[in-house]
Amino acid sequence: MSEQPYVIDVMISAKAIAARIEELCEEITGEFGDTDKLVVVGLLRGSFVFIADLVRELDLPIEVDFLEASSYGDGMESSREVRILKDLRGAIEGRDVLVVEDIVDTGHTLNHVISLLNSRKPARLKSIALLDKPSRREVDFRADWIGFEIPDEFVVGYGIDFAQRNRNLPHIGKVRFN
Ligand code: 5GP
Ligand code: MG
Ligand code: MG
Repeated sequence: MSEQPYVIDVMISAKAIAARIEELCEEITGEFGDTDKLVVVGLLRGSFVFIADLVRELDLPIEVDFLEASSYGDGMESSREVRILKDLRGAIEGRDVLVVEDIVDTGHTLNHVISLLNSRKPARLKSIALLDKPSRREVDFRADWIGFEIPDEFVVGYGIDFAQRNRNLPHIGKVRFN
């Protein structure tokens, strides 16, 4: 599939992403302003650029942890069975937690991760996704904060890959096959 020629059209510029992150961080700071220390959990690998920009804009005491759940493999089809490939390093019982995801698509991944983390009894558990494709939803799930709602297009860049490529694009682009 990755051998097929494709071009990437800009969908959301780096500047638009940065501006939206500023707005989101004001809201998050409003919610967690009283926290001792917020545990910011990035879902690997797609959220690594987003979480890096997000935490630098957050004026709160934080810790960073990562969790990896299986989703797409290297293809473009979602797998509905969610597996935890790498769990958190730290305990979250009694802690304030913010889960950071790249895209909510069918909703299975974040729905599963949030249930799992909830079972560990955090004090507060919220989620943020840079992108949301509501038209693709298969389970009733909504992140607490969303960067941008997008149509049902396959996107790359800003940490998000196509067969492990294009993660280093500074913007969100949409893949178009020639
Ligand atoms: P869900 O379980 O919500 O269907 O899947 C969410 C995950 O699927 C995202 O975190 C992301 O890894 C992957 N995904 C969904 N849409 C896209 C897309 O347009 N491009 C890429 N590269 N991955 C996507
Ligand atoms: Mg993901
Ligand atoms: Mg992927």
